[in-house]
Amino acid sequence: MFDLNILLRENIKKLAPYSSARDEFSGEARVFLDANENSLGSPLLKWYNRYPDPHQQLLKKAVSSVKNIPAEKIFLGNGSDECIDLLYRSFCNPGKDNVIICPPTYGMYEVSANINDVEIRIAPLLEDFQLNLAHIESLVDAHTKIIWLCSPNNPTGNSLNREELEMVLNNFEGIVAVDEAYINFAKQKSLLQELNDYPNLVVLQTFSKAWGLAGLRLGLAFASKEIVDILSKVKPPYNINQATQDLALKALEEVGQVNDMIKEIVDMRNALAEVFEKMAIIEKVYPSDANFILIKIKDAKKVYDYLLTKGIVVRDRSRVLLCEDCLRVTVGTEKENTDLVDALISMKNEQ
Ligand SMILES: *Cc1c(COP(=O)(O)O)cnc(C)c1O
Repeated sequence: MFDLNILLRENIKKLAPYSSARDEFSGEARVFLDANENSLGSPLLKWYNRYPDPHQQLLKKAVSSVKNIPAEKIFLGNGSDECIDLLYRSFCNPGKDNVIICPPTYGMYEVSANINDVEIRIAPLLEDFQLNLAHIESLVDAHTKIIWLCSPNNPTGNSLNREELEMVLNNFEGIVAVDEAYINFAKQKSLLQELNDYPNLVVLQTFSKAWGLAGLRLGLAFASKEIVDILSKVKPPYNINQATQDLALKALEEVGQVNDMIKEIVDMRNALAEVFEKMAIIEKVYPSDANFILIKIKDAKKVYDYLLTKGIVVRDRSRVLLCEDCLRVTVGTEKENTDLVDALISMKNEQ
């Protein structure tokens, strides 16, 4: 049985959170002399002289209506990376607890574990980049607090099988963090609507990819109210700055425009994959449910260096487990994609 109280670190259970000036006062006021702000204003036009809402209530309300998830089940982080770090800090005792990671996958689960001195247990994906459930199960012990799953997965691009995700959710008594950074580009449905069925589920999403707002640093964690309350207690009080809150609120009014971009990127991804399929120097084009394509190519490092001389930078994943000789290519604009293909063709001719 899932018991949040057993999972939680003892010091976090007892933690009295920082109470900010804006926490201690709520309601209407005329004069704000409670937070040592600059009452004269700021060099900028907006009211950036004031601390932002630590609970991001307006923004959460807007996210809630776009995602159709109650605001109390939404946590906002300074990028998903902050959500990842906060899960470690809330649940994993340094030097004692462990987590399970399934590489090749996103690097921050490992970096953040190392920062927090949390043991990493590795259950590599199978050849088809799906979960090795038996291996995962064999690694779990009483100190396993989180299993990190990324679907669609970075850098492989595939979605994890839905039934297997649910198998982990049904059988693991710790937190199952499913990173859906690329879900908007996928055929597969999000696990968001399943939140009520799984008290151990945390779904991570981000404004950095489909929403086109990597510069704002805004990540989302969807989970039970109990888990959201814990993350909110542990986070820095003003983790989402006022500019980000204002701009994200504006962006959320433009769902239609974002959906158009997603469709365009998916169409370009599929077209680019078709072109790659026909190129002799590319040995394999991995199916993608994301806004990037993983390709296996002869002498990947050499190709990577050659593309750099043409001013084109892709991601060299050739030294990553199961990704030998692989490059990860983000879908660009029509022109950028053509430039990339032209460069790959010209390389062949120069040899
Ligand atoms: C890009 C990416 C993120 C986004 O991280 P942010 O901190 O929100 O920018 C999260 N997870 C994966 C797997 C990613 O590839």
